[in-house]
Amino acid sequence: MDRQSIFKKINRVIIKIGSKALADKDNISYDRIKFLATDIRRLRESGIECLLVSSGAILAGNEFFNFNLKRLNIIKKQAVSSLGQVKLMSYYIKAFSKKEINVSQLLLTNDIFNDRKRFLNTRAMILELLKMGIVPIINENDTVSIDEIMFGDNDILASKVAAMMDADLLILLTDIDGLYSNNPKTNKRAKLISSLDEESFDSQVINDSESQVSFGGMSSKINAALDVSKFGIPTIIANGKNKNVLKDIFSYKDVGTAIIPSSIKVGNRKKWIGMGPKSSGKLYLDSGAANAIVNNRKSLLPSGIVKIEGSFKKGQQVLCVSLKDNLPIARGLISYNSDETNLIKGKKSSEIQKILGYKYSDEIINRDNMVLMQTK
Ligand code: GLU
Repeated sequence: MDRQSIFKKINRVIIKIGSKALADKDNISYDRIKFLATDIRRLRESGIECLLVSSGAILAGNEFFNFNLKRLNIIKKQAVSSLGQVKLMSYYIKAFSKKEINVSQLLLTNDIFNDRKRFLNTRAMILELLKMGIVPIINENDTVSIDEIMFGDNDILASKVAAMMDADLLILLTDIDGLYSNNPKTNKRAKLISSLDEESFDSQVINDSESQVSFGGMSSKINAALDVSKFGIPTIIANGKNKNVLKDIFSYKDVGTAIIPSSIKVGNRKKWIGMGPKSSGKLYLDSGAANAIVNNRKSLLPSGIVKIEGSFKKGQQVLCVSLKDNLPIARGLISYNSDETNLIKGKKSSEIQKILGYKYSDEIINRDNMVLMQTK
């Protein structure tokens, strides 16, 4: 897929705008929100459904106080965000109503992605909002989000929403022009990268060194882009401070960096497996099994498992990693619990019945219940 072909069929787009792009010094830029309203109206007129993920609650809340945000503890930040969220929404309501668009507020926590019922319920509700012609404005529920129900940052939240809502494109708006070949602040020869294939990313490089391909929070954007790439969704990272950014993107101008997926689109259930429930255990696979899964699109059989970690029940989500290099291979819903898996690991499927006295299936994880974490 090349950059142009991203735009062939866009029915639904998730636009995430970060605090840095929304900020005008220490305040929210109302102008920026007005530009968003204008651009989103235009997109909707061309038949594209838009969902916004907006940061800025803490920034807006701090307009009342002027705290040094870097020094605030988590409780104070949560308190500030609760004032700021309503203020932020008041800007959105004002700007969007001038364009005759109704907006709604959705404050999410990560736990909706762990439970299939809550996930489906949230999805159905958002689809209903879209049917009603409303632009949902989504943020993390900062006031209650701590520990395991936390997204961490809105790039992750936006990627999960993009996958949940079967978006055709994810746009991450920040305060820099995109991804550079090097840090443009320190290296004059750093070049803006127009597009990159999912496969050209070396996860090792991204995780280990901010400076090689990213800087200033860019790694979380790359991770978000790679997360949705696995589901066949492209991402454009661009400068949200540029007044015309959305117009330019949809006029096929070469703005920002496009991350082009090599994976094909997968169904919604598989997306949920891939992004939703937290892994309850880990299976270490030998190279034969890793190869069969990644290259031959096979199910996981007990013979390929060398060791297991964690305690899990039948049907829970586990992570498969390669024993050789500890890199993630796939996530899947397992057909046996951890005690059973321990007994049958390394054995042939024909031996399961003899070992356990029963057999649910030949596979430990059926292909239909598995999502790859690596591309070929
Ligand atoms: N939820 C935070 C806020 O609205 C922002 C988190 C982020 O930017 O990643 O202020």
